[in-house]
Amino acid sequence: SVFLQYRKKRLRFGRSRIHEWGLFAMEPIAADEMVIEYVGQNIRQMVADNREKRYAQQGIGSSYLFRVDHDTIIDATKVGNLARFINHCCTPNCYAKVITIESQKKIVIYSKQAIAVNEEITYDYKFPLEDNKIPCLCGTENCRGTLN
Ligand SMILES: [Zn+2]
Repeated sequence: SVFLQYRKKRLRFGRSRIHEWGLFAMEPIAADEMVIEYVGQNIRQMVADNREKRYAQQGIGSSYLFRVDHDTIIDATKVGNLARFINHCCTPNCYAKVITIESQKKIVIYSKQAIAVNEEITYDYKFPLEDNKIPCLCGTENCRGTLN
């Protein structure tokens, strides 16, 4: 497995005003910095579909499946890091970017702007539109109301 080399930001897991748990900065972060890699297992669409069904049967939400492209999904349900706890926000302070290292696709969360100590780390999940709506509780002025 290939690892990214970057200075790890000090982050903490804690109660979130948006949704249950979230990730918070423990140090000031400047704009355009690598905040954390979204770690998980790289799986194909078919495997993701099967896992999604199995997780639903087991009562596990499928919110830790991150779509990279049409046939690559990163599953952080069982093998993940703190990045899976980052909440969606319609006016986020970070964004997710797909980068390729030695032909392996990785998702990295970058800061869009300066982030203060104790500020919650958020990004826009950019979920596709679906009939079954997931309400957004980000509470920002430009909230779209739903995640999808
Ligand atoms: Zn929102």
